[in-house]
Amino acid sequence: MKKFSFKGGTHIHKAAEKKNLTVSSEVEILKSPEYLYLPLNQQLGKPSIPIVNVGDQVKAGQKIAEKDGAFSSNLHSPISGTVEKIDYLINEPTGNRSKAIVIKNDFNNQEIAFIKRSTQEALGLTSKNITDIMEEAGLVGLGGATFPTSIKYTGNKKCEMVILNGIECEPYNTADYIIMKKHYKEVIRGLKYMLIASGAPKGVICVEDNKMDVYEAIKNELKGEPAISVALFKEKYPQGAEKQLISALTKKEVPYGGLPIDIGIIVNNVGTAMALCEAVEEGKPLTHHYLTVTGNVSSPKNYLVPIGTLFSEVVSEDDLAKNKVLLAGGLMMGKAMYTTHTPVTKGINAVICLEDMPNKGPELPCVRCSSCIDECPAFLEPTTLANLVKYNKYDQLEENGLLACIECGTCSYVCPSHIQLLDYIRHGKYELRRR
Ligand code: SF4
Ligand code: SF4
Repeated sequence: MKKFSFKGGTHIHKAAEKKNLTVSSEVEILKSPEYLYLPLNQQLGKPSIPIVNVGDQVKAGQKIAEKDGAFSSNLHSPISGTVEKIDYLINEPTGNRSKAIVIKNDFNNQEIAFIKRSTQEALGLTSKNITDIMEEAGLVGLGGATFPTSIKYTGNKKCEMVILNGIECEPYNTADYIIMKKHYKEVIRGLKYMLIASGAPKGVICVEDNKMDVYEAIKNELKGEPAISVALFKEKYPQGAEKQLISALTKKEVPYGGLPIDIGIIVNNVGTAMALCEAVEEGKPLTHHYLTVTGNVSSPKNYLVPIGTLFSEVVSEDDLAKNKVLLAGGLMMGKAMYTTHTPVTKGINAVICLEDMPNKGPELPCVRCSSCIDECPAFLEPTTLANLVKYNKYDQLEENGLLACIECGTCSYVCPSHIQLLDYIRHGKYELRRR
């Protein structure tokens, strides 16, 4: 059986991967909490603009903030209730602070009238119809990048292939696995709508070889579907990074500073495909998604949560008290949070509690082992970048490829001297932007 892979990267040891904590637990549909906190800045680009006022009654599915230009996205209320606040400042899982709309639940679950379509009707839609639905439903990349989805489909470059990313190579996380296990038919239909939107003749669903059950289920479902196939990848981190995925599958490289569409490819996450299917067939905007809550917690599991749910609804005080680390996003690429008064946003698919970070310890001198260089999937010299940041040589960062770093965290993970190389690199990026 052919398995694709890429150069660089690292194998996360099975004992450290910890997907077993949640992979077979039942998904809990979280009861909507009393308050939801919906940041206006849940996408790459500009924050959306509120279109409701304090005191307004809203229904589930109602648009409450409108995209501000192309690089932005609409925001909808997951529940019915009252708008309590409009510009509530809250910590986001990205580490930034953002204004949020706060909705108080009335527990009546009154919904707007959703426009439903049969699959057959939906398959008759035009590219413009589907990109309009993407835009209206507030779809963004659900793999974490939060790139507004419709933008990928409305440019004037020709698309030859849509790739669905179902790799989920981050240790601990299993939300995408659950989506593919429970909703692979919707994922496939979502991909069909993406093919209509892009005009691409083929689509490929990418799955790692640690998820053979979903690979087999998708493969079986695709019999008689010549335009769509499923490809198997060797388990390796960060196989799910966009450029590494494209390179492994097609042997093509996305140019430095470019986008996949520059080489005729669009990549979306499997969760985005499922959300598109819901938007097209059920008329539902993006208001809920799957979230892995795991690590050193009493009951690790996947939840289906309304966007805007605070972490404190899924992480108990006891779980918090026995751990030093609260991560949003993932073990390797996630951000450390200092409070559970942080809402689940469109781009967050995991919350992880840990007693401490792996490979953490007092920083020792570099032993010049070259592991960070050998395993960097972007072919950079992380140790050089870290030293440039340490010694304030910011003007040399760009020429050493800093902006090509995909922030996968592999270098920090493999460094025997516990040098937190990614922290230095992120600081360097921040300084460059600030200057
Ligand atoms: S330098 Fe960036 S891309 Fe390379 S291993 Fe480190 S975090 Fe990943
Ligand atoms: S992995 Fe750590 S010790 Fe080895 S070369 Fe890189 S920075 Fe130095």
